[in-house]
Amino acid sequence: MLLVRRARVPASLLPLSLQPAVLDSLEPSALCDLALVDDRIIAVAPTGETPPIGPGVVEFDAGGMLVFPGFIDAHTHLDKTHTWYRAPNRSGTFAEAITALAHDKDHWTEADLLRRAGFALRTAWAQGTRVIRTHLDTGPQSEVSHATLAKLREQWRGRITIQTVPLCATDAFTTPEADQIADLALRYGASALGGFLIMSPDLPRQLDHTLAIACERGVGIDLHVDENDNPQAECLRLVAEAVLRNQFPYPVVCGHCCSLAVQDSDRARSTIDLVRAARIGIISLPLCNAYLQDRRTPASPFPRTPRWRGVTLIHDLLAAGVPVACAGDNVRDAFYAYGNYDMFEVYLESVRLAHLDSTLADSVRVVTSTAADLVGLPTNGRIAPGSPAQLVVFDAHSFSELLSRPATPRRCIDGELVHTPRVPDFSELGDRPV
Ligand SMILES: [Zn+2]
Repeated sequence: MLLVRRARVPASLLPLSLQPAVLDSLEPSALCDLALVDDRIIAVAPTGETPPIGPGVVEFDAGGMLVFPGFIDAHTHLDKTHTWYRAPNRSGTFAEAITALAHDKDHWTEADLLRRAGFALRTAWAQGTRVIRTHLDTGPQSEVSHATLAKLREQWRGRITIQTVPLCATDAFTTPEADQIADLALRYGASALGGFLIMSPDLPRQLDHTLAIACERGVGIDLHVDENDNPQAECLRLVAEAVLRNQFPYPVVCGHCCSLAVQDSDRARSTIDLVRAARIGIISLPLCNAYLQDRRTPASPFPRTPRWRGVTLIHDLLAAGVPVACAGDNVRDAFYAYGNYDMFEVYLESVRLAHLDSTLADSVRVVTSTAADLVGLPTNGRIAPGSPAQLVVFDAHSFSELLSRPATPRRCIDGELVHTPRVPDFSELGDRPV
């Protein structure tokens, strides 16, 4: 057993019985002692109420520093990652991102995917991420991506839980290839079906087909939705209507949903009502949205100052009772030139970009408990009996210290081991331009 003394735990990640009756909105945390055995947390108690330790118990004094559960990155693209040197996006636009990576796919062999995705996983691991869901570009010929990620899933079992979701245009689900795509992804262990949506009069029919195929196979769907600033883009609304029309019984997650933020407020509110009724979860990708949205258009030459930050209506969704997570999305590829699989960075930037500090106690959920719920792992992302013994200890004694210093050092606790993993050096990728 490992007994972690004096851990300062974000209050909203504790069992209800341990949450302070009166919460300090600026420092919403509680000092706790945590007992860990093998790979689970077996007990959580307020500091001072833990009985003296017996023989064979190792003690670690967290000294009042903030302790988070292992992070959940609910939306990534491990097949595209670390291709920036090979396929850069010089205009920073969505359109160039698509064409640049379409050409890069010729390089996606097993060895290439293992090198890039493996580096990404080591980077995420070192910074405390313990669950990653990745979307994988998928057509009938995409077996290598799914097979390689299945191999990595086995290699990382017990350290990082790796989930996969196929990514294709949803019109593919109205073609004869639909069954091939679904079967390929699920044969290699996909957690849900997926796709990116494009507004068209045919979209409701495409969604009906997608939901029917998912329903046949007993899985949920995880979609890319409205990643643009066009108020006419209402794929989110159409997804909610399709879920309700089909009485789809499995989990539905929609990523991005940027255009919701530029729509008329009455229209946005009625869409949010539909989203809540359809029990859809939302994943916002603030880093990628801030980078890619509001770039050059034909009417506004590059460079220009962006007028909006690209994030969806996070607070409105939360206020309506819709679960919202934040995730990393692309890293060092044509959709986002930067990134480091650091979910603390995603959390910090989400706080800044979306003013999550206005509900600081709940803000931590976007990269922990809510993210875990949306990927179907409801014991993850919490510090509670029965949750994984995967913790991140920050050298910060308050939210003020933590959120002020992006380079705050951290240690990890996995099982009964306290350790300080290091992110791999970029030179290990072996892709630097000469
Ligand atoms: Zn994405």
